This record gives sequence, structure tokens and C-alpha cells, in this order.
Amino acid sequence: MEKNIIQLHDKKFESYITFEQIDRAVQQIAERMNEELKEKDPLFIPVLNGAFMFAGDLFKKLNFPCEISFVKFSSYVGTTSTEEVKQLLGFDANVKGRTVVILEDIIDTGLTIQKIIEQLKHKKAREVIIATLLLKPKAFTRSYKVDYVGMEIPNDFIVGYGLDYNQYGRNYSDIYKIVE
Ligand code: 5GP
Repeated sequence: MEKNIIQLHDKKFESYITFEQIDRAVQQIAERMNEELKEKDPLFIPVLNGAFMFAGDLFKKLNFPCEISFVKFSSYVGTTSTEEVKQLLGFDANVKGRTVVILEDIIDTGLTIQKIIEQLKHKKAREVIIATLLLKPKAFTRSYKVDYVGMEIPNDFIVGYGLDYNQYGRNYSDIYKIVE
């Protein structure tokens, strides 16, 4: 099949994961959550900016009452993780005693989520559950468990479906991989 190519800034990206594949992965996560979380009165915490599209599509598939509150962190500049996580928008919901579900677009080294888990434990969340659409297992070096994973992918840099390259590319419904 011919690859669809997009250009963002100085780099080219080729089609990689279609929206149909993404939607199937989101559906599977939603079905599990509808079973496993419905009795837990969960507080969902999507991590901006990247997780907005995954979160929006996932929430439409959840059929139990829940609370949603976004946070914003950043660790990536260009195409690499900076090893330094900045908090840009904090927790405004009360997490004490709650089952909190962190929603990420992608877990790479796992550092961002690690920082968020530490903060949620400090704020006395009862239980912290992690859900990510994508996981790069070869980059992931942390010891915590990722409870919901949509898809595992190799260590390529990707954009689309919420993910950016220097703030561009988030609007595409498919996911694209960098052309080296
Ligand atoms: P971590 O802290 O796990 O190393 O990195 C997590 C964050 O880095 C994600 O929320 C995402 O913003 C960014 N990130 C990691 N891998 C990629 C990638 O392949 N493409 C894009 N656009 N962002 C990524």
C-alpha cells in the first residue's frame, strides 16, 4: 500500500497506524474499563496536550459516571525526552481517597508518569491506575505497572492523534512515523 506522507517543519512522516486500528485499541480499553472501574467512582486525569484525542474518544465509550480533570506536563522538546518534567497545569480535583486513572497518549521512558504517580501518592490517592494508548517497551525503564495499554510500538518518533512534533501534527486522526 502506498504510504501517505506529511511534512511538519523540517521533517517528513509516513502513515503508520490507521484510525481504524487506533479505534479498535481504544474500544478494547473502554470495554475493560466498563467492567473493571464501574464500581470505583474513578477520577480520570488525562495528561495534556497529547492525550486530548485519546481521552475524548475513550470517554465517549465509557458508560458509567466518572469525573474528569486534565493536567499538563511537558518533557519532550523536538523529538527527544529532556529527562526533566515540567508541571504546567496542576491537579485541581481533590484526589484524596480516590481511585485515580492517569490517561497518557504514549509512555516512552515512563518519567512523566512516574512524576505524576509521586504527586498523586503525596496527595493521598487511594489507588493510581495507569492507562496509555501507546507504549514503547524498549524505552520504558520504570518499575511501576501500566494497567491498560492500547498498543506497543518500537522506539520510532511518531505524530498524529494528539501527538506533536514541535506543536504541529496533533490534528491528524491517523498516526505517522518519522522518515529518517
Ligand atoms: P516519557 O516521560 O514517558 O519519556 O515521555 C512521555 C511523553 O513524551 C508523552 O506524553 C509524549 O508527550 C512524549 N512522547 C514520547 N514519545 C513520543 C513520540 O514518539 N512522539 C511524540 N510526538 N511525543 C512523544
